[in-house]
Amino acid sequence: MLLVPCPHCGPRNQSDLRLLGEAVPRPNPNTATRKEWGDYLYLRENPADWVTETWYCRVGCRQYFTVERHQATNEFRNPPLPGDKVGNSTYTTITVGSSGSQRGANANSEEQPS
Ligand SMILES: [Zn+2]
Repeated sequence: MLLVPCPHCGPRNQSDLRLLGEAVPRPNPNTATRKEWGDYLYLRENPADWVTETWYCRVGCRQYFTVERHQATNEFRNPPLPGDKVGNSTYTTITVGSSGSQRGANANSEEQPS
């Protein structure tokens, strides 16, 4: 069992969340080449090292968030807190609802699919 540190619910069983994979920056749709789009869609590093991943808390708060996990040890580093502005600069949270989406203060990645 893997306990994933959800920034809104606290540690949750992995089965309560969905791993969306390595968080990679989305290329600019107006200037990206076909190769850049292909790399964005299909290529991932998958190192035996620290990786920033996107998770979806599907049973609890229903929020997307990013967190760093060591691929070999499944250890989490600097788990984000709600409203966190220090520590993890890749922290992103997106509220899914009829009014659109809302990002965290330090968001530097693109919106996740809903
Ligand atoms: Zn949650």
